[in-house]
Amino acid sequence: MKFKQNLTGAAEALFEYSETMPIIDTHEHIPVKEEYYINAPIQFGQMFNPYISNDLKSAGMPFPRDTWAALVVVDDDWDAFEPYWNQAKFTSYARAFRITLQKYFGEDDLTRENHKEIVQKINDSLKPGVYDRILRQDCNIEWSIPCAGALPDIDDPLLKGNISSPAMFCMSADQMKQLAAEAGTEIPKSLEDFEESARAWMTVQKEKGAICFKSRAMRVENPDRDKAAQIFKRIMGGESLSELEAGHLESWIREVSARTAAELDVPMALHTGVWNNYKNSDINDIVGFIDRNPDTRFDVYHMGIPKIRESLQIAKNFENAWLNMCWSHIVASDMTVNAMKEGFDMIPLNKIFAFGADYSLFIQKIYGHLFIARENISIVLGDRVDRNLLDLDTAKAIMKQWFYDNPKDFYKL
Ligand SMILES: [Zn+2]
Repeated sequence: MKFKQNLTGAAEALFEYSETMPIIDTHEHIPVKEEYYINAPIQFGQMFNPYISNDLKSAGMPFPRDTWAALVVVDDDWDAFEPYWNQAKFTSYARAFRITLQKYFGEDDLTRENHKEIVQKINDSLKPGVYDRILRQDCNIEWSIPCAGALPDIDDPLLKGNISSPAMFCMSADQMKQLAAEAGTEIPKSLEDFEESARAWMTVQKEKGAICFKSRAMRVENPDRDKAAQIFKRIMGGESLSELEAGHLESWIREVSARTAAELDVPMALHTGVWNNYKNSDINDIVGFIDRNPDTRFDVYHMGIPKIRESLQIAKNFENAWLNMCWSHIVASDMTVNAMKEGFDMIPLNKIFAFGADYSLFIQKIYGHLFIARENISIVLGDRVDRNLLDLDTAKAIMKQWFYDNPKDFYKL
C-alpha cells in the first residue's frame, strides 16, 4: 500500500496484527438496509460528502452561503474543482479517500482523466452483497452501528441501530406528532404529555432492537422545566424557533431521555465538537449532563475536537462516560495520536473505543478510515512498547480490546 506511513519499532508489528483482528464500527450513517444503499447511485460531488466537501469549502471553493458543508454537492466540473482539490488533498479526510482510491481502483489521486471512471466503478459496486464484501471481508467488521432517525427496521445481522433520542425531535409540531404516532400515544398537549410520549417511544425503539440513543453536546447546559414548557407551547402553536431557543426544550427532553435510557439499560451516545460553529457542540457542556445522570452510560463521540484534552478528562473522571475515537482519526489524524499518547496515561483500558467510520455514502471509504485508525493505534501503543512501558503481546491485547472487546461489552453485542 503506497499510502501506508513508515512505521517504526513495535508499531509495524502492531499494524500487521491489526489486519487480523475483528473490528466493531461503533458509529456509522450508512443506510440500515443494503437495498437502500444499492439503489442510490452517486454523482461525482457525492464522493466528497460529507467531509471533504467541508475542506473544499474551507479552501474557498464557492458554495451557496449557509449550506451545510456536509450536504453541498460539488459539480462535475473538473476545471472548477481542481484548484481546491489541490489545496485540500492532504488533509486527513482526503488521505482516507486516497487510501480508498488506491485499494479499490488502483489510483493514487483523483485526476481529470480518471474521475468519471471512478464514479462509474463506485456505482458498479452497488450490488447485493456489497456490505458483506466491503465491511465484513475487506474490513473485518463484525458489527456496524449506524444511526437511524426512527424505527430501526434492521434485518441484517451485521447492523445494530443507534436511534436518535427524542431530544432530536423537538424542532417542530410535526416531529412531535410523528413521535406520538410511533409511540402509540396521543398527540402531546403539554410538556408532561411530551415526556410521556418520549418515554413510550424509547421503550418501543428498544423492543425493535435499538442498542443506543443518540444526542449531542448543546449550548443550553442547565435544563429548566418552565422554559421548556414555554418553548413546547410555542412550537406546538406552529412557531418555528431558532436552534438555540428550541434548545431549552431539547435540553429538558434530553434529561428525560437520559433517565429513560438508564431505566431501559440502553446507553446514550453524545456528539461533541468538530462541525461549523463548534461552540454549539462544546464538549465542556456535557460535563454537567453526565454528572447529573450517573446511572446512564454515555458513549462520548469524536473526542470533542478540538478540545481533545477535555474528552480525556471526562473519560477519566466519570465512570459512566466512555471515550470514542469515532471520526477523530480523519478529522485530525495526528491530533488523535497525540491525544491518545496522553490518554493512555489517564484512562483505564476498558473505557476506550478505537473506531467508528461515520460515513454515509461510498462505503469503500470505511476501509481508508479504518486503515488510518489502525495506523494510529499502532503508533500509540507501539511507542509504549518501544519505551519499555508495555510488552508487545499486552499491546496487541489492548488493541483488540479498544477495537472490539470494549464496544462489544458496552453495547452487549
Ligand atoms: Zn456521526
